Amino acid sequence: MSPLKARIIDRIKAEGPMSVASYMAACLFDATDGFYPTRDPLGADGDFITAPEISQMFGEMLGLWCVHMWRDMGAPPRLELIELGPGRGVMMLDMLRAAKVDPGFLKAANVTLIEASAALQAVQGQTLASSPCPVNWVDSLADAPKGPCIIIGNEFLDCLPIRQFVRKDDAWHERLVAIRPEDETQLIFGLSPLPYEHDDIGHFRNPKNGDLAEVCPGYAQIIDQLKLRLEHNLSSALFIDYGPARSEYGDTLQALKAHTKVDPLDEPGEADLTARVDFGLLGQLGEHAELSVFGPQDQAELLKQIGIEVRALNLSQAQPAAKDKLMRQLHRLLNEDEMGTLFKAMCIQSAGLSIPPGFGHPTSDVQFDT
Ligand code: SAH
Repeated sequence: MSPLKARIIDRIKAEGPMSVASYMAACLFDATDGFYPTRDPLGADGDFITAPEISQMFGEMLGLWCVHMWRDMGAPPRLELIELGPGRGVMMLDMLRAAKVDPGFLKAANVTLIEASAALQAVQGQTLASSPCPVNWVDSLADAPKGPCIIIGNEFLDCLPIRQFVRKDDAWHERLVAIRPEDETQLIFGLSPLPYEHDDIGHFRNPKNGDLAEVCPGYAQIIDQLKLRLEHNLSSALFIDYGPARSEYGDTLQALKAHTKVDPLDEPGEADLTARVDFGLLGQLGEHAELSVFGPQDQAELLKQIGIEVRALNLSQAQPAAKDKLMRQLHRLLNEDEMGTLFKAMCIQSAGLSIPPGFGHPTSDVQFDT
């Protein structure tokens, strides 16, 4: 048994069954044995792959998005460019390369990375060693330097711990992680009745017995932080992740190890644990906080509107030998059988900024002669 599993079992024996959120937090971030602190999980040889790792075009387009936003903010002389969960730092590298189109932007930008894993911080430091802008790390949004900012997070929200609630006997129960009674070396899910009607599940309408509702407490904390920043300075935040446009019932806790789905309870700390992002709830919380919310917009639509097809065309004209590869990358990012519609973007920004690029009406496709 892995050391983390042994410690989780001891903890449950001492403290009782744990929430799915506590279990997720332990698996992902336990300082000595958690998934992120102990490895670099990204890429073909790792456990999962993300859009910036698929293609440089993804970060490049987002870099141009940031330049546009900075100009719309009135081109402040100092801009806090903040990334949540930067992985290997590849997206920031690609963003800054594309942002060279505006030297004023690069002069203004001060990069802050918010990364829970020391192992990944080290990788980010290497990737961004020759960054044209200063790069610093802080533990949370609350610690990031104040002032006008652009915040960006790709596949960050999906690893925030979630709680799960199940409707049974016309009442909500919390799904908990417990020890299997007949085998104390195994974990199982159990249900515990809630002694009160839980406000956080209130937005799930007309529950039927058997329905499972997921709630991510981290969204409210993020919105609180955004409100503090976005009210004081014209600023914008862009989140890209996988999930539905509206809150939906269903168990979406997923464990990935070496690109294969595994049982989330089998090997704590050895697999990436994520859950679908509830953009419906995130948007509602943003609107209640009186922030301007745009989207969710399909990733494909966002990227097309900000010009990824033209970028692909230009790159393939410059390097004809790479054309097939570029087209495959484009297909993975845009196609609806791949990431195109499963992944969505939401922009939450100060009232007073214009509609962010990529959040307008659908565009017609650029035609390729492939
Ligand atoms: N954005 C990158 C990596 C996505 S993986 C990409 O698209 O390739 C998720 C990243 O978020 C990892 O870097 C992970 O360590 C980080 N992370 C997850 N939860 C976090 C938290 N609460 N605080 C800081 N970083 C976090």
